[in-house]
Amino acid sequence: MGRFSWLFPLLAALLLIALHFVPLEGWMIPAAWAVPALLALMEHAADAFENIRSGRYLNNALFTCLSAVLLFATGLYAEAVLLLILTSLTGRLEKLLNDRSQEKLNKVTEILPTHAVLVTDEGLERVDPAAVSVGDILLVGAGERIPLDGVVTEGISTIDTAAISGQRSPWAVNTGYKVYSGCRNLTSDIKIRVSRPYEQSTSWKLTRLAAAATDFPSEQENTVRRFLFWYQCAALALALLLGFILPAFRGNWIVWLRRAAVLLIAARAATECFGIPLLETVIFDKTGTITEGRYAVTDVYPVKMSERQLLTIAATAESFSRHPIASAIREAAGKLDERVMRAVKIRDFPGRGVSAYLGSHQVYVGNAALLEEHGIKYNIPARPGTAIHVSVDERYCGYILVTDKVRRRAFDALESLRVGGIKKLVLLTGDVFSVARPIASRLNFDMLRAELKPEEKAKAVAYLMNNKGQRSSIAFVGEGENSGKIMSGADVGIAMGSLGSDAALARADVLVMDRDIFKIPKTLAISRQVYRAALVNLGAGFGTNAIIALFGVLGVLSPLAAVIASAACCLLLLGNSLRIK
Ligand code: ADP
Ligand code: MG
Repeated sequence: MGRFSWLFPLLAALLLIALHFVPLEGWMIPAAWAVPALLALMEHAADAFENIRSGRYLNNALFTCLSAVLLFATGLYAEAVLLLILTSLTGRLEKLLNDRSQEKLNKVTEILPTHAVLVTDEGLERVDPAAVSVGDILLVGAGERIPLDGVVTEGISTIDTAAISGQRSPWAVNTGYKVYSGCRNLTSDIKIRVSRPYEQSTSWKLTRLAAAATDFPSEQENTVRRFLFWYQCAALALALLLGFILPAFRGNWIVWLRRAAVLLIAARAATECFGIPLLETVIFDKTGTITEGRYAVTDVYPVKMSERQLLTIAATAESFSRHPIASAIREAAGKLDERVMRAVKIRDFPGRGVSAYLGSHQVYVGNAALLEEHGIKYNIPARPGTAIHVSVDERYCGYILVTDKVRRRAFDALESLRVGGIKKLVLLTGDVFSVARPIASRLNFDMLRAELKPEEKAKAVAYLMNNKGQRSSIAFVGEGENSGKIMSGADVGIAMGSLGSDAALARADVLVMDRDIFKIPKTLAISRQVYRAALVNLGAGFGTNAIIALFGVLGVLSPLAAVIASAACCLLLLGNSLRIK
């Protein structure tokens, strides 16, 4: 019915008032009232039809229509019109509030694209971002937001990544550079080739943070829907019994039809249900979440060589590793003379280290488990800490101690998770117990599993998933790059500080781009509020409706009172949802 659909109920409302002043008699009365009734009925009938067509045979709009028809048929013309108008009004209000809060969420991030400019053979075309496919070429004008993730194919510019990374300094980009949706293109026009569909783009994933707060997990949603379905079935059956069968045996048709109408009014679900799973357990993959993920070398313990030699060997073998420990070792070794040595045949041992050939010499760089697996004897470090052992041709060369700092506000963030109702905090790490234990106890973790290989981390998550309560769920917080796979084993995957990590984008439900650990309790707090409001609304809605239905059936509550009570209840519940944020 489009933009002017509000005119119909408005016109109906004016007629509702006007008709009270017009003296009418006989058949003129229903004929005159039929006009506002039909005007007000239109959108509900359309709504009911739309619902039925998509398989929802029992729906609020249908109940509204049926009760209005019953009221009208029993001579309660004004009540019928009032019911239809009030229902339109509350429906509109609800939609308005939903749109407003959606807008608010969009404003917070301001990064969801509204359009994309497609470069085609015929020229430029403004399209819906969701309609863009991977491989399409887009034009991003200077000053515009990048709509989808992609690779620059033409142009040189600078990109402001603040919206998604929280970092102020802009990036210079050139042909071949990756760019991320949500960032702003600052200096000049560029063309990009789209590398990810809209639903996998960075900006979309980021706003999932907001969306995740309004998704019911399917089990819970189904339970509520099933309950709603049977509740409405029962109401419909009872209304038939009251309105059409009972009066055939005894009593007054009009009285019972009106009571049936009240019952149908109360059979409408008070609110659409929404919420999120109740999180009970949060698992942290230590490095990069609880700690900063930026290692530094603190000590070097060479065996029969100089510190400098040991560092150089280790750094060369680690030349291409993306592990933060590798970066620390490379940094400590300083600039390497590439003519002396180059690492070849590099092998990655996830959660253990690397092996490589330097010339004809085989080098292992990694933790104790790596050396043990290859039958190489090593020294037990004299001090607790993360020791990276080095061997050349099965000969032990010593170890390098590295440390990572615990995040500044980790303790407070974990405390607010607890205050927020999280019952169990779990720390998983591939690092040694001597490092992990003090952290776990200082931060009050409930469970610690250390010295785990990546596959053992996945197993630990699976174990927790199998042993959780039915209605609770588990979140896994990891830094994106190497905990992607483990993350998808949990109910909710949260990736921290992983701008540009494809693994994180593909697997995580929530991205926390700016490494602020406090974002996690904040998100959960909002979700919890939404969840509570939804529960209260659900309970209060059913409660009030049950009372209206009961009193209506008993004949204590007049149809007019029921119409008003139902609308008032709806308004109160909307008010309750408004309190969030
Ligand atoms: P975390 O649980 O801290 O993310 P990882 O699974 O990434 O740990 O690694 C576990 C351990 O394996 C590290 O503490 C380190 O001892 C060793 N390790 C992993 N990758 C490397 C590497 N590239 N170089 C040296 N040691 C490594
Ligand atoms: Mg790791």
